[in-house]
Amino acid sequence: MWPSTSRAARWLAGWAGLLFPPRCLVCGREVGDLTPICASCWAEIPRWDTVCVVCGVGVEPGLDLCPECAVEARPFAWARSVGPYEGVLRALVLLVKYGGERAVAKILAREMAERVAGEVAIVTWVPADPLRLRARGFHGAEILGQEVARALGIPAQALLRKLSPSPEQVGRPREERLKAMHGLFSATKKGRGQPVLVVDDVMTTGATAGEAARALLAAGFGEVGVLTCAHTVGKE
Ligand SMILES: [Zn+2]
Ligand SMILES: [Zn+2]
Repeated sequence: MWPSTSRAARWLAGWAGLLFPPRCLVCGREVGDLTPICASCWAEIPRWDTVCVVCGVGVEPGLDLCPECAVEARPFAWARSVGPYEGVLRALVLLVKYGGERAVAKILAREMAERVAGEVAIVTWVPADPLRLRARGFHGAEILGQEVARALGIPAQALLRKLSPSPEQVGRPREERLKAMHGLFSATKKGRGQPVLVVDDVMTTGATAGEAARALLAAGFGEVGVLTCAHTVGKE
């Protein structure tokens, strides 16, 4: 056993739930069972009633398409997210993205898996920037992808690699940003028409997901669907 006076031992015991009751990772309230999030935080996850049938962003009731999808063809067949990138959902995404919290990824993945809107044979994820991956040691989208695959009962595979560092996006006009993203990814293997699901943490303009879809389609994979935890709204 650890000496009871050691701070490290107390921390370890607390972490293992031996000494302190487990607490909600969002609000810090005690939780009774082995869930990382309390019921009231879970109930506060923002959701949309009506979404764009293509990109999954919230739209006014009665509309099928958001303003972007109404005028622009998307390389992916469909995209869905749990809800808008705000409040509790944003907090949960950050726990996965910067903390690598697998327990949180697992509960988000179950919500995401319920929103699949087409055929899926393989799950993959938007790849990390290699430098960022080395610094952080984990990749939130990959953790989410593995958990979504588990929830759906289908295989997860790294099908994409990132070719160049992310272009600096802030303050650039939309057209320029889209152009800078062309050829950002390539597929790691050839497909035989299998429908692929690409997982990522957050969708903003859909440009990243679109480039991932383009690379998979070019390599011979079938229809590409996209699942993200959250979708940003309003400003990009
Ligand atoms: Zn809570
Ligand atoms: Zn849309």
